[in-house]
Amino acid sequence: MGVLTEGTALSWNEIVPICQVYRSYALSQLVKIFEKCKDYQGDSFLWGDELEFTLVHFDHSKKRVQLLLKAHGILPRLVETNKENHDDTPSIAWHPETCDFMIEGVPCEPYGFLPCYLNTVEANMTLRRKQAQEILSEQSDCEYIINMSAFPRYGQGQFIYSSKQDDLQEVTEQSIHYPDRLISPIHPRMKSSIVNSLARSQGPPLVHIPIFRDASTPSPFQDLSFKGTKDFRDDHIHLDSILAGWGCCCLQVTFQAQSLIECLQVYDQLLPLTGIMLALSNACPIWRGYLTDIDSRYEVLFQTGDDRTPDERERSTLNSRCSPAPFYLCNEHNHLNDISLDVDEHVVSTLTEHGYLFCFDINIFYFVYELGMSSSLAHHFGHLFVRDPLVVIKESLHLEDDTSSYHFDNLNSTVWNSLRFKPPPLDDDKMGWRVEFRPMDIQITDFENASLSVFMALLTRVILTYGLDLTIPISQANENIVRAHHRDSVRHEKFYFRASGDDGESSLMTINEIMNGNDKFAGLIPLVEKYLNESENINSDTRVTIGHYLSLISKRAAGTLLTDASWIRQFVMSHPAYKQDSVVSDEIQYDLMWKITQIANGQDTCPLLIQPRMKTNTHLNPE
Ligand code: ADP
Ligand code: MG
Ligand code: MG
Ligand code: MG
Repeated sequence: MGVLTEGTALSWNEIVPICQVYRSYALSQLVKIFEKCKDYQGDSFLWGDELEFTLVHFDHSKKRVQLLLKAHGILPRLVETNKENHDDTPSIAWHPETCDFMIEGVPCEPYGFLPCYLNTVEANMTLRRKQAQEILSEQSDCEYIINMSAFPRYGQGQFIYSSKQDDLQEVTEQSIHYPDRLISPIHPRMKSSIVNSLARSQGPPLVHIPIFRDASTPSPFQDLSFKGTKDFRDDHIHLDSILAGWGCCCLQVTFQAQSLIECLQVYDQLLPLTGIMLALSNACPIWRGYLTDIDSRYEVLFQTGDDRTPDERERSTLNSRCSPAPFYLCNEHNHLNDISLDVDEHVVSTLTEHGYLFCFDINIFYFVYELGMSSSLAHHFGHLFVRDPLVVIKESLHLEDDTSSYHFDNLNSTVWNSLRFKPPPLDDDKMGWRVEFRPMDIQITDFENASLSVFMALLTRVILTYGLDLTIPISQANENIVRAHHRDSVRHEKFYFRASGDDGESSLMTINEIMNGNDKFAGLIPLVEKYLNESENINSDTRVTIGHYLSLISKRAAGTLLTDASWIRQFVMSHPAYKQDSVVSDEIQYDLMWKITQIANGQDTCPLLIQPRMKTNTHLNPE
């Protein structure tokens, strides 16, 4: 989380006059980071995941499930629980999220570089849910913490739990469907970024999502509450609040590299995988109570995270704050940066020219080191600095402190691209250069979340060990993200992919070919297997667990197991109360969510998602 969560947030009107000076503070901090840390070598491979959870309330008698706005109540308890030092139990860091029905849990200490840590991930995820569930269960046996990327009827009817049962859903000025009380009351940064984003973009977004057309869906389908609005479209459902995107939950994984150069390599090689992993993690086919033609939350985030002014939208050289990663960072991949976007030239020249030359005269030899930032990386920051600071905390504004990179970290963490390049904060010597992989929808079970996280961790090792080059033009990586959203994209789409060892050209491949291989490409999973077979220090428990994780991903890629999105869609369409009209009623939602809760807690199985023999034996501590 890194950045202050307390203090008085400035309003947008107060921020506008100080934007430029704020950026100059952030830039001088970035220069300091670079001067201090650019030569870090030999940092360990450390890594960690982030899970965003959803709190829900079940009413079994009415067959109803609703969102529970209680994160503000349980968060202090969770923080307290983890302060007490339990010798053998790793601590969890709990963070507030945008909405009060959400809460984020991460391992306090990152996982270590030894392979045995891979067998602790799932147990750690389970511990997180257990800690929160215990607190919820003290007060009620109807309240649950679940992993759900988008609550199916979020924004529809009475979707918020209230003990006064027939409380009318209030309407606010900004949104017909998403009341302000959804916003977390304990996170001034979040509230401020929403309010400021609205002020900057001069009005709430109107997201449009194509409806899934079933036998009895009206034609044209019209989302009547928006009829007459400017951007209204037939055959689409609309979401009219930033909270529609920010109420979605994702799975993120952060990796620390040994050095700046290695970090840039990892970033560039993970970039072409964003669309592929988005497709494999798809978990969101239902929006505002309708089956739609998209399978992932990412498109909704993209549209709701767009705080561009009307003028900026016309220029189209600036994108949503939640857009896919816009640039490669290594100079050698610069020719693949084929989308032209605004950059702040002053920032670019400050960062590239800031270098200096050292010449050591050792008799007849001259060693020349050039220490400036590479032009691609400077370009990346040049683009970041085009953004206005979205959140400014008054108490921190004149933080004249050489040892902090607060302003830069604040700017960097209010852009939510599919990848985030995280330089070491100046005030934390334990942190090195890191990459955060951010596209994935969260999965229903700890097993699936661990599978995707561990797979990504192993893939970074494979990329570095075998020197894979997966880079493709940015325009193609963006196109992959678009395709990844499509209904059942894993089974029906082809994606741009550069099979390493090729002549450098990308071709269109199925996810099955990318993951499991074809006659030209070994496949990412066989490459991970090869890496594991060549590694010596993996204990048998860990190896068996990883085998199950890889098997899940391999079968999902092959279409023999379903993505969460496809399974949820199938569940709805075969529900006896479903009327083939694309509507997911309260009753269907209740049955779906209860089934999900039971599966996640091991009280039910779901062989379409996870084969029963994929049982793991994972531990909280490495063995
Ligand atoms: P943010 O919300 O800014 O992305 P969080 O603090 O919520 O960051 O999560 C960061 C993740 O990175 C956690 O999983 C944490 O365990 C992990 N992590 C912490 N330190 C390191 C490190 N030095 N290298 C890699 N990962 C780390
Ligand atoms: Mg976080
Ligand atoms: Mg989060
Ligand atoms: Mg994160």
